[in-house]
Amino acid sequence: MMNLLYDHLAVNQKGHLTIGGADTVDLAGTFGTPLYVMDEAAVRTMCRTYRQAALANFGPDALPLYASKALCFTEMYRIAAEEGMGVDCVSGGELYTARHAGFPAERIYFHGNNKTDRDIVDALDMGVGTFVVDNTDELYALDRLAGERNIRQRILLRITPGIDPHTHKAISTGRVDSKFGSPIATGQALDIVRLALSLPHINLHGFHCHIGSQIFDIDPFVDAARIMVDFIATVRDETGFTASELNLGGGLGVPYTEFDRKVDYAAAIRDMATAIRTICEERKVGMPRIILEPGRSLVAAAGITLYTVGSVKTIPGFRTYVSVDGGMPDNPRYALYQSQYTALIANRPDAPRTERVTLAGRCCESGDLVGEDMPLQQASRGDILAVLTTGAYNYSMASNYNRIPRPAVVLVKDGTPRLAVRRESYEDLVRNDL
Ligand SMILES: *Cc1c(COP(=O)(O)O)cnc(C)c1O
Repeated sequence: MMNLLYDHLAVNQKGHLTIGGADTVDLAGTFGTPLYVMDEAAVRTMCRTYRQAALANFGPDALPLYASKALCFTEMYRIAAEEGMGVDCVSGGELYTARHAGFPAERIYFHGNNKTDRDIVDALDMGVGTFVVDNTDELYALDRLAGERNIRQRILLRITPGIDPHTHKAISTGRVDSKFGSPIATGQALDIVRLALSLPHINLHGFHCHIGSQIFDIDPFVDAARIMVDFIATVRDETGFTASELNLGGGLGVPYTEFDRKVDYAAAIRDMATAIRTICEERKVGMPRIILEPGRSLVAAAGITLYTVGSVKTIPGFRTYVSVDGGMPDNPRYALYQSQYTALIANRPDAPRTERVTLAGRCCESGDLVGEDMPLQQASRGDILAVLTTGAYNYSMASNYNRIPRPAVVLVKDGTPRLAVRRESYEDLVRNDL
């Protein structure tokens, strides 16, 4: 029997792959393919794992945030709200969706390295709890727009600690040379703190850093925390301001293949807390309120994508292409990062994976691949193919390239599916065309 990576995936008596107790072949029949399917219980369990670990180890005011760019639609914000999470939004569109879901605005952290005036106004008007301010231009704009509304806006400043967590370059964001935040190493971080403290409509609470994604060790987080606590001490000594909040970003990893490690998230948070407490004691800095903002690790494992196989083509001496009815438009991650995935034939997952295939999409683009050199069962036209661990950065990164409508998103709860996002129609594609 093959390794299905996660407990919410299984094989039923018909020999079909199930997710959260629902038969994936039935789901494909009912909702069509390509189809994103999420096990709601798996998402809620991860929210609870983070929340309980944060409360137990960081104290009663700890607040884990869901980094909603990982998977963003109305029902996800409702789930996050019900689970007592905060959320991190990075655009006007994410804020709008959160508001549409009735998400409590005071629990929103508003990120982004280039917020427009319109974004800032929208966020102020909806009462967003905390802005994470990236740069001095934004700080001046926020001070002016908050002033016009007689608001003193609570903020954190995004700081770059200068860390490379050894993951892929495109998803490593804590180095000095980054479009995000103000580097400590160049003195710009201290400068922006002084500026924030001088502005009348800015209420500085602390600092934020985010070092990258798909990280399996807590060491880079502890390194970042040490640098950030040192920075808190420097700021205190230089300006008299003591940060009361430290947001260490997201980034814990998930397994995409049987060769990836599994992370014990509760243990990781406990060990981080122990290390941070020691660092604060050594630096004689009071333990700040610690915020974590996981995205991928909350939703990636809960999701799979179902496709229908359309063709199997072997180029002798080269490789076998298995083409499916989706690809780069619903999952651009192989094209962007050569991300690895696990694929299987959902109507016979227990058959041995004797083939090595290139899983191709249907776009006019050679790079439109879901993966290369992937183990797979013998496939033929009409088979339902499942790609695992697609809950994060798939739907949220989907495009309409080649005018391919975006798939539906189905949530499964107690074995029963419900539509969370309708499949786009061809009419949707021309809706804004004049
Ligand atoms: C993307 C992002 C996250 C979430 O990262 P994951 O790797 O998905 O956990 C958190 N914070 C910020 C600022 C981000 O940009």
